[in-house]
Amino acid sequence: MRTVGDVYRVIDGFAPFCTQEKWDNSGLLVGDMSMPADRIYISLDISNESVAAAKKAGAQLMLSHHPVIFSPLKKLVPTDPVWQLAAANMAAISVHTPLDVAEAGINSRLYEMLCETLCLGAVTDTIGGSGFGWVAESRNVWTASDLAKKLQEMLGCQVVRYSSGKQPIHRIALCSGSGGSFLHDAIAQGCDALITGDVKHDCWYTARNAGISLFDCGHYHTECMAQELLAERLKAVFPDTEILCDTQGDPVSYVWGGGCK
Ligand SMILES: [Zn+2]
Repeated sequence: MRTVGDVYRVIDGFAPFCTQEKWDNSGLLVGDMSMPADRIYISLDISNESVAAAKKAGAQLMLSHHPVIFSPLKKLVPTDPVWQLAAANMAAISVHTPLDVAEAGINSRLYEMLCETLCLGAVTDTIGGSGFGWVAESRNVWTASDLAKKLQEMLGCQVVRYSSGKQPIHRIALCSGSGGSFLHDAIAQGCDALITGDVKHDCWYTARNAGISLFDCGHYHTECMAQELLAERLKAVFPDTEILCDTQGDPVSYVWGGGCK
């Protein structure tokens, strides 16, 4: 029998839990190490929908990128996914910032996805302290609008929000998830663009004032590759374990039109 502890140790081998940020809450968050894990369900986030899908598939362990318990729990109600997990006797492991900064983690996968089409050279620098974002130079030069169109195609998102800085764009920083707080770092390192998700309002002004192009491809679409990445790593070690990936997709719906500039 495969146990939750077996899975935890494999993850710890390539994305050590001890590397998590102080504010993070990665690790085994529901259940204990001795619980069975012969069928594993992987999702970017643990929602009631993904718990229901995992339960239907007979999974014993849910593995997620974002922690199912992040802020301190002050009460636990039946509509909380944590309640749903416990009621289904399912364990949950989350591997948030360790996977963000791992050498073969999410940013590595994002870089690989963009590398060929954007003609990126080797990674030369990182941004965000522990290395949340990577910097590489493109052998092509880009306008902001051309780069936005390419990102939309490559990442499969419905919308790329962007603002144009000095062009052409050559030196590019990329950071999966919500990397707007690293914008100052990208500016300080002479980047022409930052590609990330979940950009807050004030960041757009910071970018415009500094003349850097900024691209918001969405939190989900810059991190959903975590599911595949984790599934590949576990399949390589546990070929006989059933590993399923969530199919709920982007939790956000979009509508847009020609009414606003
Ligand atoms: Zn994230």
